[in-house]
Amino acid sequence: PTPRIAWIGLGVMGSPMAENLLKAGYHVTGHTLEKHKLDRLAAAGGVPAGSVAEAVRGADVVVTMLPADPHLEAVAHGESGILAHAGPGTLLIDMSTVAPGTSVALAEAAAARGLRVLDAPVSGGEAGAVEGVLSIMVGGERADFERAEPLFRALGTTVVHCGAHGSGQTVKAANQLVVAVNIQVCAEAVVFLEKSGVDLAAALDVLAGGLAGSAVLERKRHNFLAHDFAPGFRIDLHHKDMGIVTDAARAVGAALPLGAVAATLVAAARAQGDGGLDHSALLRGVERLSGV
Ligand code: NAD
Repeated sequence: PTPRIAWIGLGVMGSPMAENLLKAGYHVTGHTLEKHKLDRLAAAGGVPAGSVAEAVRGADVVVTMLPADPHLEAVAHGESGILAHAGPGTLLIDMSTVAPGTSVALAEAAAARGLRVLDAPVSGGEAGAVEGVLSIMVGGERADFERAEPLFRALGTTVVHCGAHGSGQTVKAANQLVVAVNIQVCAEAVVFLEKSGVDLAAALDVLAGGLAGSAVLERKRHNFLAHDFAPGFRIDLHHKDMGIVTDAARAVGAALPLGAVAATLVAAARAQGDGGLDHSALLRGVERLSGV
């Protein structure tokens, strides 16, 4: 029988991901805070639920796709939370980006109630979620990973078991470090090229084809050229992720010299009021420093 999925958190990422599960034939009951997102789930063939408790009742698998650690903790613990209402043997898959330690603590609390847990954060952005081509990095026990693999294959194309609980989040933290530094340096190149009077579109084409090419340069090209900073991935969320990678690296004694600069620049963008914009808006910070 097809597993019954409870999906908690139908935002920028969660909505299209849940819809891909519906397309793959899963039964999906969903809960989220915005009513229009529940209507969207119903229109796609899912069942809207008024609470976390209602969504997880009778589910085989519970997926969470929430903004940050406090949201996950609120949804997991507490009287009307997942741990209190999911049946024994339920597999809880957290696909949000949170601290590795939060995933480990959740796995321990869930084990005490007879639940299984995987941390399975993703990369690939809104487009990756819509197209079902996400990169999914998974921490937890291999047997649980194998149980979840068909579901992951409905959401992504690169699906990798990284190790024990929390290791998916550790890999995601490294991903966010690389992406932040990459966006920042691409933004610096854009401002330099523009100020130099070079045809920016042509310049980005040729950069993309050489050693400077990257997924960031390809996927954020439009944002840079059009100054289109509609999210996408909000600077507020990347600020959270720079905090996660900074703490996790400090805990193991890994130095992040460029990461520290990128974290400062992400924080500065937020302080300048750009927290609600896509992370490609780091360009605005470089422009401010350059008097553009
Ligand atoms: P979002 O803010 O668009 O969506 C979060 C959803 O969680 C919202 O619909 C909100 O209603 C819901 N929610 C919050 N608290 C809730 C509660 N108590 N009960 C039920 N629902 C609740 O965020 P997003 O952009 O979809 O990102 C989700 C996670 O995925 C974040 O951890 C983010 O870092 C990560 N992520 C995002 C992207 C991206 O490009 N947006 C890419 C990769 C990973």
